[in-house]
Amino acid sequence: MGLTIGVDIGGTKIAAGVVDEEGSILETVKVPTPPTPEGVVDAIVEAVRQVSTGHTIEAVGIGAAGYVDDKRATVLFAPNINWRHEALKDKVEQRVGLPVVVENDANAAAWGEYRFGAGQGHSDVICITLGTGLGGGIIIGNKLRRGRFGVAAEFGHIRVVPDGLLCGCGSQGCWEQYASGRALVRYAKQRANATPENAEALLALGDGTVDGIEGRHISAAARQGDPVAVDSFRELARWAGAGLADLASLFDPSAFIVGGGVSDEGELVLDPIRKSFRRWLIGGEWRPHAQVLAAQLGGKAGLVGAADLARQG
Ligand SMILES: [Zn+2]
Repeated sequence: MGLTIGVDIGGTKIAAGVVDEEGSILETVKVPTPPTPEGVVDAIVEAVRQVSTGHTIEAVGIGAAGYVDDKRATVLFAPNINWRHEALKDKVEQRVGLPVVVENDANAAAWGEYRFGAGQGHSDVICITLGTGLGGGIIIGNKLRRGRFGVAAEFGHIRVVPDGLLCGCGSQGCWEQYASGRALVRYAKQRANATPENAEALLALGDGTVDGIEGRHISAAARQGDPVAVDSFRELARWAGAGLADLASLFDPSAFIVGGGVSDEGELVLDPIRKSFRRWLIGGEWRPHAQVLAAQLGGKAGLVGAADLARQG
């Protein structure tokens, strides 16, 4: 099979790209994400049509945030777009005239990293995506594991703190409340409030107030060695690494791949994640350790992974 299209549905933009068998993106288009479910279908169809021009396309893979059923056809529930049992595969197939596969976006990103990124050469890989929230993907025995109903690997909502912070999902103490981009901003604000003298570089990057602190400021300040920014990354890394130790107990992979915007900071966040992972790994002295690797494909992993899953049918 030759070229396929990967579609990544983001909160503000929908990206569609033509991808070859080696995982290279030949061409992309981006369109704004419309506010209604019908509008999103129209926009996907339009993006696929635009990017297809001049190419012979075999299939389309769509990565969507939400619960996708085991047939990879219906979005059961999406937190950001108002999809409830949305028959996305059928709707898009009818209009673009190509086979369509729908996949959870974090699963698609995990597959992209396994096939063409940091996971190459590993048969058993667990991916976590530290973005606004925390997503995950499971590859065991060279297969993407979706569970019986298609909705496995929702690691972000494992409850790590009984009666902990309220989560958007309605539960309390979910892992993503402690290890995610949103958690990072909370850590920085708490620390800047407590010790503003240690956050001078951080505060100078925004509007000077604690409330004005954003994720990108924390990244930039950490690179300058701002104590509050660096410590906020370490706090996030402690929670992330402890969670990976739990996942090692469950899955025993040879590699963990850490992706998402937070991982763009590289060793600044990966090194303390590895330390925390080793600290909490049961029997760590007497067992092999999984590697903890930075994702390599950045924001393109989901698009490339969705396109490759469509190729595999
Ligand atoms: Zn939750």
